[in-house]
Amino acid sequence: MVKPKLLFPIIIIMLFLLGGCSSQPTEIEKKAEHGLLDLTQFNLKNEIIPLDGEWAFYWNQLLEPDSLDQGSLSGYVPFPSSWNKYEIDDQKIPGSGYATYQLTFVASDNEILALKLPKVRTAYKLWINGELIATAGTLGTTREAMVPQYLPQIISFEALQGENTVVLQASNFYMSSGGLLTSIFLGGETRLLAMRYNGLAYELFLFGALMMMGVYHLALFFFRKKDRAPLYFGLFCILVAIRTLLIGESFLYFALPDLDFTLARKIQTLTYYLGVPLILMFFRAILPDYFHLFLTKIVLVMGIAYTTVVIFAPTNIYSTINPIYQIWTIFLIIYLFTRLLKIAFHKEKSSGLIILGGLALIATSLIDIITLSPWINDSWPPLIRMIFQGDANSSTGQLIFACLYSLLLAKNFSESLEYRTVMGEKLIEMNTHLDELVLTRTKDLTESNKKVAQQNLELEQINQELQLLSLNDPLTGLWNRRKYKETVGLEWQRCLNHQKPISLLFIDVDYFKNYNDLYGHAAGDECLVQIGATLKATLTRPSDMAVRYGGEEFVVLLSETGKEDALKIARLLLKRIDQLGILHQGSAVKNCITVSIGVASLLPGHHSRHEDLIEIADKALYHAKAKGRNQVVYLDAASHDTPV
Ligand code: GH3
Ligand code: MG
Ligand code: MG
Repeated sequence: MVKPKLLFPIIIIMLFLLGGCSSQPTEIEKKAEHGLLDLTQFNLKNEIIPLDGEWAFYWNQLLEPDSLDQGSLSGYVPFPSSWNKYEIDDQKIPGSGYATYQLTFVASDNEILALKLPKVRTAYKLWINGELIATAGTLGTTREAMVPQYLPQIISFEALQGENTVVLQASNFYMSSGGLLTSIFLGGETRLLAMRYNGLAYELFLFGALMMMGVYHLALFFFRKKDRAPLYFGLFCILVAIRTLLIGESFLYFALPDLDFTLARKIQTLTYYLGVPLILMFFRAILPDYFHLFLTKIVLVMGIAYTTVVIFAPTNIYSTINPIYQIWTIFLIIYLFTRLLKIAFHKEKSSGLIILGGLALIATSLIDIITLSPWINDSWPPLIRMIFQGDANSSTGQLIFACLYSLLLAKNFSESLEYRTVMGEKLIEMNTHLDELVLTRTKDLTESNKKVAQQNLELEQINQELQLLSLNDPLTGLWNRRKYKETVGLEWQRCLNHQKPISLLFIDVDYFKNYNDLYGHAAGDECLVQIGATLKATLTRPSDMAVRYGGEEFVVLLSETGKEDALKIARLLLKRIDQLGILHQGSAVKNCITVSIGVASLLPGHHSRHEDLIEIADKALYHAKAKGRNQVVYLDAASHDTPV
């Protein structure tokens, strides 16, 4: 297993190796002077020699080899360079126009050689020794008359021993600067072809790699739309991939010779104008704390505005607005750099990857801007010029950026996947624990419920006991049996002491079970309440005592009351209860509530007990019931088997 940290340098080294394996031109000190380059010391078949130096230059003249002497020489100019940098009669010449270049080189042998022609802005014809050997586009003296075309190519020809004349006509009305920005190479055909094929192979490799990354990330986005980072990243990779085919060896011009120049230029420019907002949106998506939303929005608006101009305006207009966008980009590069510093300072997660990739992007963008703008200076040292003029370098930088950041995205992606897996496992664990928790909680709850029920039961018992302890009947408000039992002995003793009689009425409601069955228990209760109230209202003396003895049975204890008074009171009660007129269809006596009353009256003595009172009254009541109910029956102590 290769450690991930080792992977980055390996990738980068591999890219540079791949990029560097193209055939390198021979480093020669010798440059053309006054349109003459002596190459007799070289075995040209085995070399790749840049035809750099001073070329004869005829501004605004399209001269063929045999009419060169009729033209007026504008001067000897440094080659290669855009002609905007040339001065004729101390005056700078514009980008738009046409010109003829001429160089004579001296070869030592007659042999088949080849020329490697770069992109010429923006159409050309080339003759060697009077023979037309290469063209691209159609030359013209106005924009309308010419047809622009980029066509890097390798052309072989027969070189002569001695002087060989190269004549090149070029016209440009489509780019802001005209002429040739890169060298024409002379050498053996195989060497030059190898140079071109290596370049093409490397660029196609870059294209494939970037395209794969782009499509892969778009697919990632397609399956998970919540995260925008792969979308921006994928689109950016695809843009850079397309751009790779348009710069350097320009495979796309080669593959599609009829490709419209304006369209191709527009596409290339668009890859730049759209790439900038995409890359910033991408950074904002992965590092939202470091990249300002407002700035990202401005960048997007700028990008869209420039894109619109590119799509709808002719080529030469956006060539003029381009520098503003380049300055804007440089500002953004500085901004990106400050962000990278901040990330380094904060030791953000994966900051190594972020910073390395970011620096690759910064370097690559700077190279791009300088390469594509007319700022590149002919007086720059050759090494720097090589770095900045090598188109492939910028794509390599972008590929390094793309590699490192797709590694970053993959890392984030698998980390979040890992996180989700761990969280899922935790959740499952928690769920199982939850079941246990719910189970124990439910158990606790059932137990406490049981306790509460137990307590309720105890409370009820206490209540019942309390009720037993209390002396009142809660329904009727009369005294209860307990109170009766406490009192009857005392009253008996009192009457005994005073030698006074004592009487007792035993009252029972007639057919009360039927009443309950007919009218319900609540109505029965109400009935009992009314009877109780009647008892209370009828008994006026303080010593008279009305008792709810149980169920629908009442007892009235009358101290110091003889038989006659007791019977009077009994009859009065019977009458008053009758008069209540409580409807009772279930009664066999009459259709309202009635009672039967048993009466006992005793003179307390040493031969009798108070219990006799209730016994006798009960018997009397039994007789009253037996005799047809709704009546009073008296029994005396001696003959208490015989009703009176
Ligand atoms: P009888 O004329 O022979 O006395 O017939 P009865 O139906 O009144 O006598 P029984 O003893 O068969 O029935 C008594 C009924 O009294 C039974 C019960 O339904 C009712 N009862 C006892 N206590 C209460 C009470 O507190 N409220 C109510 N609504 N009914 C009671
Ligand atoms: Mg009864
Ligand atoms: Mg009854």
